[in-house]
Amino acid sequence: MVLGLGLFLTACVSSPSQGDPDDGPAQDTVGNFVPDRDDSLRETLGDSPAECVASAGAEVRDVDPEDSPVKPWQKPTGGELVVEFETGRLSERYTRLVTEAATIWSESPCIEAVTARSCTGGANCVAIVEDGSRSRGTDGEMRWDDNGAYMESATITLYTQPLDRASDNGALATIVHEMGHTLGLDHRLERSDVMNSVTGDNTNPVPDAIDFANLVAIYGT
Ligand SMILES: [Zn+2]
Repeated sequence: MVLGLGLFLTACVSSPSQGDPDDGPAQDTVGNFVPDRDDSLRETLGDSPAECVASAGAEVRDVDPEDSPVKPWQKPTGGELVVEFETGRLSERYTRLVTEAATIWSESPCIEAVTARSCTGGANCVAIVEDGSRSRGTDGEMRWDDNGAYMESATITLYTQPLDRASDNGALATIVHEMGHTLGLDHRLERSDVMNSVTGDNTNPVPDAIDFANLVAIYGT
């Protein structure tokens, strides 16, 4: 078996945190973001599919053609795809945000994203590490190995120099974004979406209905 190259996706270029109405709902204070996120999630779920069943000819939509396409995991027949995200090397803040991001992605009927201090044997495993070095303008990155058809493992790097200065909302958007890549999603053209290549403190960290539909297009049966 030939492993694919580990590729870097640079993501989450920090955007100015004010002034652009296309950058998603403004957050007044850190204390407001949780109810806003819950509202956003409810609205999104109103549009998202109830089952991981793709209609004939379903394709991923609104994908940025300049992105390097990631591979999907091999989904078990008839079951949800379970992906474990390792939190054992993370500080309390990033453990909390990764846990919240896993809950958000698990709203997809195709995905069960779970956290574990370290992955169980044989699991679809995503390692997550913090890096305190300078990040050249990127606050999150992922790389992966694949076997040509399917993703086999992935690693998310969280650059703490910029992320420690980001709001919880902005850091969560970065983490949701990188986790989205590890679930097989490429960048979106829609500027306000969390899977756009640029996210910031004002980005809504909740994926939109197209993101959830894209997961069905990838994993639906
Ligand atoms: Zn990205």
